[in-house]
Amino acid sequence: MDDETIKSLWRDLFIRYEYNLMIVNISDKYPDEKSLHIDFRHVRKFNEELEDLTLKDPERSIVLAEYVAKEIAGNDEISKINVRFKEIPDDIVREIRSIRSKNIGELISVDGIVRQVTEVRPKLLRASFMCTSCGGTTEKIQDSDLLEFPAVCNVCGKKRGETKFRLLEKESTFIDTQKIEIQENPEDIRGGEQPHRIVVYLEDDLTGITVPGDRVRVTGILKTKQHGLKMQNTVFDIYIHAISVDALKDDYKSIEITDDELKKIKELSKLPDIYQKLTRKIASSIYGMDILKEALLLQLFGGVTTRKSDGTRLRGDIHILLVGDPGTGKSQLLRYIHNIAPKSVFTSGKGSSAAGLTAAATKEEIGEGRWTLEAGALVLADNGIAIIDEIDKMDDKDRSAMHEAMEQQTITVSKAGMNATLMARCSILAAANPKYGRFDISKPLADQINLPPTLLSRFDAIFTITDIPGNRDEEVANKILEMRTNFDEEIINEEINDDLFRKYIAYARKNINPKMSREASESLKDYFLKMRNLYNKTKVVPITPRQLEALIRLTQASARVRLSKIATEEDAERAINIIQQFLEETAQTEEGIIDIDKAQSNLDHRTRKVNEIIEDIIREITETGRDAEINEIIKEADTEGIDEKTVRKVINDLISSNNLFEPRPNRYRFVE
Ligand code: ZN
Repeated sequence: MDDETIKSLWRDLFIRYEYNLMIVNISDKYPDEKSLHIDFRHVRKFNEELEDLTLKDPERSIVLAEYVAKEIAGNDEISKINVRFKEIPDDIVREIRSIRSKNIGELISVDGIVRQVTEVRPKLLRASFMCTSCGGTTEKIQDSDLLEFPAVCNVCGKKRGETKFRLLEKESTFIDTQKIEIQENPEDIRGGEQPHRIVVYLEDDLTGITVPGDRVRVTGILKTKQHGLKMQNTVFDIYIHAISVDALKDDYKSIEITDDELKKIKELSKLPDIYQKLTRKIASSIYGMDILKEALLLQLFGGVTTRKSDGTRLRGDIHILLVGDPGTGKSQLLRYIHNIAPKSVFTSGKGSSAAGLTAAATKEEIGEGRWTLEAGALVLADNGIAIIDEIDKMDDKDRSAMHEAMEQQTITVSKAGMNATLMARCSILAAANPKYGRFDISKPLADQINLPPTLLSRFDAIFTITDIPGNRDEEVANKILEMRTNFDEEIINEEINDDLFRKYIAYARKNINPKMSREASESLKDYFLKMRNLYNKTKVVPITPRQLEALIRLTQASARVRLSKIATEEDAERAINIIQQFLEETAQTEEGIIDIDKAQSNLDHRTRKVNEIIEDIIREITETGRDAEINEIIKEADTEGIDEKTVRKVINDLISSNNLFEPRPNRYRFVE
């Protein structure tokens, strides 16, 4: 087709679908409105050849469409009306990982989650230069990254070597530009695969409208750019020059449930032993831990997020922390949940990117010197589950952002002119290792793991997994032998395969929002009051309103497993059972008293436990093979807010109780 044919096709299409009226409207509102959004289905319906050209040679097709649009506008003030496409049919959308060099120059449409955005910066579009010889003005269109000067002055005719040109910024035309990077959606990736990514270049009214974590369908022209700044490099990067960016609703789109599958899910939900069936599917290779597994099951289904009348949001997502010795199957559990959750992001507290768990403003990677805002794991896991191994190793930036992320489920970034509030509406399943190699269940949790008590208190439940040799050896041995001879496991796996399990969860989360029955509320209240009343006897706080909120979330999640719109007394009992287990495992003192501070200790608790902090300091030093020197202990204790006098008193107490001895003056070691 020649240019005139293409132009007349666009002209006819604009008339047929009343784009003419929109163009006139844009012309009236210019420059507040600059873009004509064409429904791609119209192009498809109108003319097959035009669709084909637009897919194979979009640059040419769009330039001609823009020419026609400007012609219709008939307004000399308008330099350009951008032609953009919306309603891209699904059959045009491809996976990021399937993009190849043979697609260069073609129209590409991909779905993904925004991982990084750069600052919006103006770029020269049409530069005006003043000739220093004659003072005349010469314009030059800029189409590369480097400033291009005119070869010759249009007024006096002197060449660039004979005169100098000075850029006139005020007379030049700039365009806003921004780069973003999108990556494949978490739910489209299974197993240990790394998500593929692609850079998208945005201009004009497409800039400044996306933030990290947004789900988008990007349509544009696939282009290449030499890798790095050196011009002679033969490696090229590909990127998409965007024509349109459309927000996608986050609704588990890629998880499609057939009628047959839905029928099967509904049948399963009515089975009296559905909890046992599903719980047994969670890491069936790890023996026992039934209550923990049930908690993980309920976490997958989640509670109901609600808004109070004053607008504040009550999260429905359930956060669970696993603490325990290395080699107790924590990581296996995490990996299993990662595999089964409809949408999950697996990460380590150590962080695989600068953004870490929350978000970061950096000058790295795609920005080429611009500030770049990058989403961390919790943002990428929005509406899903973030699975964090070694959460105790997270850096200081994450530590300070986690409180907001876990409770309000947002992450506010304000750095270097990059201000954004990112959504992190995900549940968190995290694992932490004890500071001192092995976990001591008799000691408070906060002193044994490197996490602030304020963060610990944001977990709905904390489970300690200890591996005490001898304790469960016989059970484990029996279990392993049983698995070799019993095919029961496989029968279950066949009845509910991973794919169906995933769809079951996605369906329940999307469609079922249970309300509490009066009986369920009464049960939770009774339990809460009963526990609170223990205080009168023990003078120790056993439970706080946070646990009541956790109970409500777990109760709702339990109802969701049955696809029930009403949470019953039975659901409440299941939730109570889980919280009771958490309290007994993690918050019970050696005297059998439940002390929530033991699991989520606060400052008052810490002052009570000064002795233990000093013991820990000495242990930290002596574990390196040295004796603990008094000044070193005092210095460390000082960072914990403990004064020298107290340190000396505690050390004397430890010596007189035969726990500590002094092999050399002012040097201490524990009695073995
Ligand atoms: Zn001149």
